[in-house]
Amino acid sequence: MKCPVCGEIEDKVIDSRLAKDNTAIRRRRQCLGCLKRFTTYERIEEMVPFVIKKDGRRESFDRRKIVEGILRACEKRPISIEQIETVADSIEQDLMERAEKEIQVSYVGERVMQALKKMDEVAYVRFASVYRSFRDIEEFVNEIKELYELKESKEQQTEHGQLDDPQIPQGVS
Ligand SMILES: [Zn+2]
Repeated sequence: MKCPVCGEIEDKVIDSRLAKDNTAIRRRRQCLGCLKRFTTYERIEEMVPFVIKKDGRRESFDRRKIVEGILRACEKRPISIEQIETVADSIEQDLMERAEKEIQVSYVGERVMQALKKMDEVAYVRFASVYRSFRDIEEFVNEIKELYELKESKEQQTEHGQLDDPQIPQGVS
């Protein structure tokens, strides 16, 4: 397995166990080149559904895209990789449990938003701004309003971090 850090092909498995939900084998590996550790999951391929994109194209579900999307939304936020992996796992698990061969990309986006909303307000708004802007800007503005109201009520109880500017996408009005 190619090392994500240095590209070395040789590694050794240092731990191998069932993932929490028992649907995957989780392997902890160590690169023999740079000694960095990384994790791989072995899953049943047939269970993974196709995702229908907005333009009608199909592609196989790619967990990495979810992880990358959340990573981007969580930039400079106090969210660990483990938390992001857990969210990606739960979404993938949900898609598999639906046991449908095809799933709309909007459904995947909604699931990511639900998870982010629980985890981190700022990350949620960032992600939602990308996902929702193309469909309904009013909905997006309402979401921000709700978040600010939520934040204000929270601040009355405790000191809380600033909601930094949620990057309203340009060219949408
Ligand atoms: Zn390496």
